Amino acid sequence: MKPHKQIKDWGLGLNSPLIIAGPCSAETPEQIEQICKEMKEENMVPQLFRAGIWKPRTRPGSFEGVGEEGLKWMEIVRHHLNIPITVEVGNAAHAELALKHKIDVLWIGARTTVNPFAVQEIAEALRGSDVPVMIKNPMNPDLDLWIGALERMHAVGIDKLAAIHRGFSDAYDKRFRNKPNWSMPIHLKRVWTGMEVINDPSHIVGRRDGLQEVAQRAMNFGLDGLMIETHHDPDQAWSDAKQQVTPKRLKEMIDSIDFKEPLENMKPDERLQDLRRAVDHLDDQLLDILQERFAVIDHIGEHKREHHLTVFQSNRWKEVMESRTQKGVAKNLSEKFMKELLYCIHEESVKRQEKQLREAEPIKK
Ligand code: PEP
Ligand code: MN
Repeated sequence: MKPHKQIKDWGLGLNSPLIIAGPCSAETPEQIEQICKEMKEENMVPQLFRAGIWKPRTRPGSFEGVGEEGLKWMEIVRHHLNIPITVEVGNAAHAELALKHKIDVLWIGARTTVNPFAVQEIAEALRGSDVPVMIKNPMNPDLDLWIGALERMHAVGIDKLAAIHRGFSDAYDKRFRNKPNWSMPIHLKRVWTGMEVINDPSHIVGRRDGLQEVAQRAMNFGLDGLMIETHHDPDQAWSDAKQQVTPKRLKEMIDSIDFKEPLENMKPDERLQDLRRAVDHLDDQLLDILQERFAVIDHIGEHKREHHLTVFQSNRWKEVMESRTQKGVAKNLSEKFMKELLYCIHEESVKRQEKQLREAEPIKK
């Protein structure tokens, strides 16, 4: 992956953990002014102010945003708080207008990230600009689609990039508006070194209660900031009324979150180093055992080939799966982990044996 600029290098004085707050939608100049005033009074000035100007609504007829007019109101934020501003862009025209009004940071919403045509169109509109872009995860848990949108920006020269985890649409789990999937942002950080992921508890939870718990979990996992929808009168908000909080409540929440120190920033700690050395050693052993196991699998493959047996045998698979899962559970490993591990090992075994069959000389009868 080509290098990109992290939040601290965007030239906007931002740092991780990045706190982003502001209303779901810009509604009126008075609303923007009131929110800014309360943020100041409560001593809760975020690092970056958010506001939705064009609102992607699931069904027509709801408030769809104030449009270009709202971009001018962002001057009110600059005047009262003197902080940079971010808005959502959903197509090339939005991107051009946001650049024209010198919006500091753009974000791409979940409904846009799912659509490579729209993302490419926005990328083309931004070519040659130096604006930072944050990409929300797509509606569905597809990591490649998320990475693809980041890559499309990177390919036109946008190198100030971050991602936002806002959860995934789920037909059955009604505890969340959009269910979080913590392994996905972590995997994104694994495959794209240095990619920072901001958490958006507001769109994950969809209600005021529960925001703090999700925000804390995000910090425990090592995500890099929070985007929280904030409104002076949440119940009267024109969009997402149930999930917005007042600047006062935001302050209480942020004050009680335990922001963990990223390990990278700490002095090398003897105890941690010892433990990591032990893990390195165990991983080496694990790899030796896997190597040995696959060597035996290859012998079995050879035997199956000689005796015209199929590679996959369902009764054997069932027996392996059940017995190993039971043993694993007895060793305090979760059933889900055992099943995923066994699927993964078994799939690799089947692939190896099938390759042996394909590549071997046919046996003469
Ligand atoms: C928003 O941030 O207001 C928004 C529309 O979010 P999402 O794209 O996550 O649904
Ligand atoms: Mn919203």
